[in-house]
Amino acid sequence: CYALSVYQPIDMLWTEHSMGASISMAVGLKVAGFKGPVIAVIGDSTFYHAGIQPLIEAVNKKVDILVLILDNNMVAMTGHQSTPAWKISESGREMKPVLIEDLVKAVGPDLFTVVDPYDLDSAVKVLEDALTSPGVKVVIAKHPCALAERRTRSVERRYYVDAELCKGCKACIAATGCPAIFMESGKAVIVEEDCNGCGLCARFCAFKAIKPVIPLGRGG
Ligand code: SF4
Ligand code: SF4
Repeated sequence: CYALSVYQPIDMLWTEHSMGASISMAVGLKVAGFKGPVIAVIGDSTFYHAGIQPLIEAVNKKVDILVLILDNNMVAMTGHQSTPAWKISESGREMKPVLIEDLVKAVGPDLFTVVDPYDLDSAVKVLEDALTSPGVKVVIAKHPCALAERRTRSVERRYYVDAELCKGCKACIAATGCPAIFMESGKAVIVEEDCNGCGLCARFCAFKAIKPVIPLGRGG
């Protein structure tokens, strides 16, 4: 699903080839002499599928890349199937988890960190540091899939847009790409039932137009 960020409004991926190809493409770019920083973005299931081999190659050949593994603990794009990190399969079969952290550590990159991407300030700092460090850097952005999380816990807080404060700048959409937000008559609107309550969009609204919905009986 992260491959969708090749499109607007996120527009964060510059090349998109096939599942799990990012690390090998990044290695190829650097070996071919590309001078700028190269970031390979790969999901957890695709890392198991086709990311380990080129990571070994990058470490072995000392290729200067940053690998960002987006770990939502499932194969989200194809329908929320299990990954090798699970203990129980969809059919109830017991499994022995093979963790990405252990695999990455065993391969031995020059820098390795795990962050929660919703801890925005820490995540940005980790990525900035990684971009300026030499060698192979691996950052795992670890957070359960938002859709799966909603099945296992109730959303405690949802957000809405105060239309009187909204200036229609679309910063909330540009920064998050959240599918719960859309524009109507020049103002942002949040589909409350689709809001996961992460609060990220509120952080990016300079006009403080995005506010938490106060549950009935808890106002004051
Ligand atoms: S960032 Fe704030 S002001 Fe801008 S569109 Fe979103 S809600 Fe409106
Ligand atoms: S709080 Fe999170 S889930 Fe809700 S609209 Fe904002 S970005 Fe989307």
